[in-house]
Amino acid sequence: MKHTSHSKLTLSVHAGSPGDNVYKGMVTPVYPSSAYDYEDMPATLYPRYFNTPNQKAVVEKIAALENAEDGVVFSSGMSAIMTSLLAVLQRGDHAVFQSDLYGGTHYAIVTEFPHYGIDYTLVDASIPENFEKAIRPETKVIFIETPSNPTLKITDIKAVAEIAKRHNIVTIIDNTFASPVNQNPIDLGIDIVTHSGTKYIGGHSDICCGVAVTSKKYVEKILKKAINTGGALDAHTCWLVERSLKTIVLRVRQQNYNALAIAEYLKTDSRIGKVYYPGLTDHPGHALAKAQMPGGFGGMLSFEVKNSATEFTHKLKLIKRAVSLGGVESTITSPVKTSHAKVSAADRAAMGVTDNLLRFSVGIEDTQDLINDIKQALA
Ligand SMILES: *Cc1c(COP(=O)(O)O)cnc(C)c1O
Repeated sequence: MKHTSHSKLTLSVHAGSPGDNVYKGMVTPVYPSSAYDYEDMPATLYPRYFNTPNQKAVVEKIAALENAEDGVVFSSGMSAIMTSLLAVLQRGDHAVFQSDLYGGTHYAIVTEFPHYGIDYTLVDASIPENFEKAIRPETKVIFIETPSNPTLKITDIKAVAEIAKRHNIVTIIDNTFASPVNQNPIDLGIDIVTHSGTKYIGGHSDICCGVAVTSKKYVEKILKKAINTGGALDAHTCWLVERSLKTIVLRVRQQNYNALAIAEYLKTDSRIGKVYYPGLTDHPGHALAKAQMPGGFGGMLSFEVKNSATEFTHKLKLIKRAVSLGGVESTITSPVKTSHAKVSAADRAAMGVTDNLLRFSVGIEDTQDLINDIKQALA
């Protein structure tokens, strides 16, 4: 299914949402059955076969927003990422990952891949040729994540996809930070797009889910692995995800708007050190981000406070301290205390993850209220 005829605002409301055909209500009913008739249906429905009505509604909507043919919805982002990887990799294969990876993905490959006999190389993604240099005859996958966590580095999606195509290698992207609103990697040549739906897709800090959207060919491969690994999402949560998706464009647009305004303000405040946001013209990935993120630069930014970051986060009133991201409420986190706590001081320094760096997930609140909260906490 290709949905190019409608804008994302329309797709977010209508794609994949059939409504209630029995009572003519506007909303997709919840179909919680885990047991279905096996005779009178074209295929046996079962939650762990990823083919129940509420799962389908979610997949159709996200696939429409990502311009993908089809997809699979999972119970977490990690389930989507690991199942997609294991669907296209086997013993003896090699994969190339960008080194700036979400901590959970990095941990998963480092701890799991050796057990599967799968080798991997981590490369600096700032130069696309680094991926090509790491390719071996047994390389089957290239995996990227852009913008990256927490310093919002931008990887050239199209350049990496072209390298992979030349070598017959499958490409997977973690598109969580951008959301389907801002960046659509399939249009740039990527094969499989994964999301932690826990973030912008859920959008209200109350759902854990994941998704992989791709072509029919790769959906088939992912499903084969997924029925063995499980990780299916239940009907009630799917229903909430479908509901959340109806406002994703509105939410993310306001988050884009707020994040740019806040990043621009932070640049002007002498009490702030480095500011990382791809929407800033002096960000090293700005031109690339402008080209490959047509929807906007996203709601994530990072910055250093010159005084104590801990004190600053305790003085904030509106902006809450919390891990995770992508909710309607603004949240802030200290990477050295959370995602990068286990990374050595030397490695952290190389990544730009200093003690005073804070990662800000900008919500949908009023822009000036958020800036005022930062100002009063800095005072
Ligand atoms: C949160 C996150 C994940 C993992 O998703 P879960 O839903 O927590 O399993 C993967 N990638 C990125 C970029 C994330 O932010």
